[in-house]
Amino acid sequence: MHSETAQEEVVESSARQGSDFLKEFRSAGRGFWGNVSDSDWNDWRWQLKNRITTLAQLQRLMPTLTPEETAGTRLANQKLALAITPYFFNLIDAADEHCPIRAQMIPRVEETHTASWEMSDPCGEDSHSPVPGLVHRYPDRVLFLVTDRCAAYCRYCTRSRLVSNATGYDFHPEFDKQIAYIAEHPEIRDVLLSGGDPLLLSDEKLEFLLSRLRAIPHIEFLRIGTRIPVFLPQRITPALCAMLKQFHPLFLSVHSNHPRELTTEVRDALGRLADAGIPLGNQSVLLRHVNDDAEVMKTHLQKLLMCRVKPYYLYQCDLIAGSSHLRASVRRGLDIMEQLRGHTTGYALPTYVIDAPGGGGKVPVSPEYVLSRNADRVVLRNYEGKIFEYAEAADGSPLTPAPHQIEEPELG
Ligand code: SF4
Repeated sequence: MHSETAQEEVVESSARQGSDFLKEFRSAGRGFWGNVSDSDWNDWRWQLKNRITTLAQLQRLMPTLTPEETAGTRLANQKLALAITPYFFNLIDAADEHCPIRAQMIPRVEETHTASWEMSDPCGEDSHSPVPGLVHRYPDRVLFLVTDRCAAYCRYCTRSRLVSNATGYDFHPEFDKQIAYIAEHPEIRDVLLSGGDPLLLSDEKLEFLLSRLRAIPHIEFLRIGTRIPVFLPQRITPALCAMLKQFHPLFLSVHSNHPRELTTEVRDALGRLADAGIPLGNQSVLLRHVNDDAEVMKTHLQKLLMCRVKPYYLYQCDLIAGSSHLRASVRRGLDIMEQLRGHTTGYALPTYVIDAPGGGGKVPVSPEYVLSRNADRVVLRNYEGKIFEYAEAADGSPLTPAPHQIEEPELG
């Protein structure tokens, strides 16, 4: 990277300072809850009981609430409830209207505007549900929804029709029927527990579910999708980790979007899960003014690796009703991926995907690196924009000339 003017140098150096700052692990602190005992603060049930769920609480804790946020919060309970754990609330910068944590958590009136292409079930889950609470969209795996509750609610949630029950969806998973369906379908080898957030269930209930699934001979692989380590790291107790490790191979997909979410508390919680031998992946959603910036994204991905988490997917924000104000464009996403590939560790790179609207499943999208391809050669572009030829002979005969870099950059 180089700058041509003094102004660019200033911008560049402040961007670097920003990523260095974001890269550091800090505690979320106690904020407004300084008088709470350590045992209460570190008790996940206390955190849940003391969530911020009303406009009055928000106004008291955050006098800087804007008119858009006030109006949005007033209407939130008709769409997706407001709930934020005290721990996570401490990450909101009340002085910054554009705080990336605030944008994900505080309802805004724009949520009531539904664009013509937005839907209440953008991934078509309900139409692929053979049994209430089970989605069978791909051939060899199912999505097992175990609850409609989360520790906190993300304003862009793709399942907002269901989670928090604000719209009266009246979700009732029927575990017996869900498990019976899985047992009757030998093609299912992979079960993803999701919701809502499965780690909100008690250890006993989770153990009961996981042992019933493990008892099905054709189930090879179990996964849990959760945002609990980020919203409520106190829930990741040694007892939970000891229980989960009985069910290997069990993977866990965390959901974190911004480097500020990765605090010392979260790093320690993820460390406990990793020490229990649970492979950890992360799923992020590309969100406007939250993480649609290559430097912020790179810092987040690198910080995840420091927490022993492999970035797994970067999702284009689904076309969920009322989310236009949070959606970054696909062009922006591709641009960010272009600025990551080759510029940082390959392990840090997630697959950028669009969940095809209406139930088409995840489609990977990527900047173009293959410029052309025919029977005897592939022309490639690397991360620096240099062009290379990779020759291949279908019959295995010696390649003449050997593969080489192409000198005419205009080919690119
Ligand atoms: S944690 Fe997941 S399921 Fe819950 S509100 Fe956030 S995105 Fe939706």
